[in-house]
Amino acid sequence: MTDQSSFSLLEQTASMINRSKTPVVCGHIMPDGDCISSVLSLSIGLWKLGIQAVPTIDWPIPSEFEGFPCVHNISDFSRDVSQTDLLICVDSSTKDRLGRFETLIDKGLPSVVIDHHTTNTMFGELNWVAPEYSSTAQMILRLLKFMKVDYDEELALVNYLGIATDTGFFRYSTVDETVFSDAAELVRMGADPAFVARQVLERNRVEFLYLKRDAINNLELHQSGLVAVSYLRNDSFVKYGIREDEFSGFVNELRAIDTVEVAIFASEDDKGNAHFSLRSKTSFDVSKVAQDFGGGGHKNAAGFTHTCSEGFCNALEELLQVIRKQLQSEHS
Ligand code: 5GP
Ligand code: MN
Repeated sequence: MTDQSSFSLLEQTASMINRSKTPVVCGHIMPDGDCISSVLSLSIGLWKLGIQAVPTIDWPIPSEFEGFPCVHNISDFSRDVSQTDLLICVDSSTKDRLGRFETLIDKGLPSVVIDHHTTNTMFGELNWVAPEYSSTAQMILRLLKFMKVDYDEELALVNYLGIATDTGFFRYSTVDETVFSDAAELVRMGADPAFVARQVLERNRVEFLYLKRDAINNLELHQSGLVAVSYLRNDSFVKYGIREDEFSGFVNELRAIDTVEVAIFASEDDKGNAHFSLRSKTSFDVSKVAQDFGGGGHKNAAGFTHTCSEGFCNALEELLQVIRKQLQSEHS
């Protein structure tokens, strides 16, 4: 992990940021814990160095993250960012994941990408892309330590959030010794693991269970149980007053079925588009499938958003066919 190439990219990233006065730190649409953590911990760290970073995400903040320090400092695209001299993109594998902040790249603003997705398209001027890290939050810890930021309890807590959530609370195949040593270091500096687990996992409204009941009713197994599929149409989200991006964990429960290698969960938004979440348990690479549909991610967790011009069910059937074919070619 400290090989020469990734070390020098870290150095170059630090020096580009050090030269900036008013960087915008931008996460991705449909933000997850790693995104919120990376945007906030980098911004808090830079404030400590006297750099006036502006944390931004072009999407509402999911309710499970509302109790974390400085979350309310994250601004959306309505904030005037015309004076910025650097765009720092975190945890975003493609430029369209920035939402409307993508226009800052198109305008030629200097940019640096800090990300751990294998499918990153290297859309920045400088790209520190390091898939060997479990989470972008781990990269931010390396960067802030390199920049000699003094951690306090709040920064440690916010930084820990991304490592915990992107590893499924220390369960995924991305968990190695560095994950535990980085998490331990953040705990030593004041992060409270029980607080993070409670905020993220144990503050659901009962409507989440009702929504899960609808998703279970739609569950189907294919390929002798190798593939699990479920979905929620927009009317279910409307019925329970839950946004489709707030219901994110169910695909992991599909993957947890004993026979399942590939899990698919599709949620329809109010414009007839659908977000597809893909998971695999071992060797099947879902990031390749997601890329074929214009998305991206990791080998075992990926996703994409699809305009369902031919209808929601046809889009789901098309995806299933691609997965069936790939499974057959793997087993022939
Ligand atoms: P999720 O299924 O939880 O939305 O996402 C799983 C993984 O796939 C995450 O690492 C996420 O960043 C990535 N991902 C999800 N949706 C998209 C998408 O629309 N485009 C890209 N490039 N990556 C995505
Ligand atoms: Mn991540």
